[in-house]
Order: sequence, then C-alpha cells, then structure tokens
Amino acid sequence: MPCQSSDELKILVEEARICTKNGKVANYIPALGKAKANDLSIAIHYPDGRCLSAGNIEKKITLQSISKVISLALVLMDRGLDDVFGHVGMEPTGDPFNSIVKLETMAPTKPLNPLINAGALVVTNMIKGNTVEERFLRLLSFIREMTNDSTIGYCEEVARSEFETSHLNRALCYFLKQHNMMAENTDVEQLMDLYTKQCAIEMNCLDLARIGLVFAMDGVDPLSGKQIIPTDVARICKTFMVTCGMYNASGEFAIKIGIPAKSGVSGGIMGAVPGKFGIGIFGPALDEKGNSIAGIKLLELLSKNYQLSMF
Ligand code: GLN
Repeated sequence: MPCQSSDELKILVEEARICTKNGKVANYIPALGKAKANDLSIAIHYPDGRCLSAGNIEKKITLQSISKVISLALVLMDRGLDDVFGHVGMEPTGDPFNSIVKLETMAPTKPLNPLINAGALVVTNMIKGNTVEERFLRLLSFIREMTNDSTIGYCEEVARSEFETSHLNRALCYFLKQHNMMAENTDVEQLMDLYTKQCAIEMNCLDLARIGLVFAMDGVDPLSGKQIIPTDVARICKTFMVTCGMYNASGEFAIKIGIPAKSGVSGGIMGAVPGKFGIGIFGPALDEKGNSIAGIKLLELLSKNYQLSMF
C-alpha cells in the first residue's frame, strides 16, 4: 500500500536527514556550493492528482544530470532509435559519471550510455534546431508540457558557473569530435552553452515528481490523458534509469531500492514507480559517487516501508 499522508513522509524525512552530515554539497560547479547541506525535501505525485510532500517544497533546484533522461526522450522522439544508438551505447559503467577513460580504451569511441556525461553531451548535440536558443526552447517546451507549468526556466547563475568551469566536459566533446561521434561542424562552445543551460533548468520537487509520474505512466500524463512520450521511448528511458540512473551506484540502488530513478549533482532525484506515482527529492549533500546521500536513504525507507521495488 503506497504512502497515504504527508505526515508519514515527514517522519521518514527526519530519519533520513540524519545522514546529510555524512555527505558534501557539490562545489566543482561553484554556484552549487551555496546549497544548505542539511536540506531534504520530497514530493510524491499520484495519477489522480493527489500530492504528498515533506520539507521545503517551494525550493527550486537545478536538474543537472536528471535533465539527461529528458533530453534522451526528446532526441529519441526526434531522431529514432537507430540514429541515437548509432552514437551512444546502452551499457552501464563502473566509472564515475564524468570519466573520460573508456572513450580512449574502447573501440569504437562510443560513450557507454546516454546518462554519463560523454553520452549526454552526444545526445544534447542531437537536439534539433538552428540555434542554441531554438534548441534550448524545444527542450524547455517539452519539460513545460510534462510539468504542465509554462513558467519553468533555467538558473542563469548556475548555467554561467558551469559554463565557465566545465573544462572536463569540453575535453569530452573534443575527444568525441575527433572520433566522429559528434558532427564535424559541432561548435563545442555552443554545445556547452546548450548543455549548461539544460543542466541549469530549475523547478521544485513537485514539478520533478510530476515528470517522474509521466515516466511512471509509460509516457502518459494521467491528468490530461495525453501521451506526451511514446510508450517505447518511456520504456527505454526507465530502463536506463534502472541500469545507469545513479551513475556507478546503479546496481546497489536496484538491489536495495528497485525504483527507476535519476539523480543529479544538485542533490535532486526523480523517481518513477511504474504504474503508481512519481517522486521528486531534493537533498544537496552528496555521497562520494555524486548521489544525494539522504535522498537515497529516504528512497530506501520508502521502498522498504511500502514494498515499492519492481523486482
Ligand atoms: N552539469 C553536470 C556536469 O556535467 C551534471 C552532472 C551530474 O549531475 N552528475 O558535470
């Protein structure tokens, strides 16, 4: 039986909050370093429109890597599976999310999956449009449709902060370009502009839970009845969330929690409990793999208490 009240959630949040002291806020993107380490909030969005929440639910967070699963859905819809998976693989990795090592040791030089930085950069580069503005707006419109919120935008400060410091991501782009995984005419600075804006798209946990709900319901927004993402694309995204969504901690997460989920270094986690509900979490203190330490604990408590594992 799923969680029935916000009071039940509040108890779990306070229990999970204790582990925030074992984590650290990301600061390799300087603007993210301003977050408060002991913050923790959650929203759950049910298909009938009911929402439960605990913590400061008004707070906006940037999507960071959570955006990768959304850009993947958009690009799969735009270009089809053959084109996309000609440029990026389907396999999980044991390396950190921003690792460059496999690009050199594997032949051909194809990023292992779309949720590590190398793969996500290839995917973002495939978003259609003539200018960065046009391409970004397409992604934003897609997100606005999923959340049913036309005010969603991005945080300029976080985007700029990442753009100015993203040397490793630039290196990944040049490496991929050299090996023909990005078109010859790819302008890396423009791609970084688009990618850092994508990562800086911001929303609160309720919006995040609503996106999780669309994935949970196989691409249908249950409130409008509209199929926003084709079923097969939603299924592919959810599968990647299980196998790669928590970076190189995805195996342990699947065993202990068993919910398709995607995390970001802002401390956000978007979860999609198949057929049941969407989850949005914000807890900026991260573990050593870059996942929200208390967010994972909270999901573990939820999964155990309400038997949410899909396995
Ligand atoms: N913008 C971040 C980066 O590219 C996203 C990474 C993440 O959330 N793990 O480094």
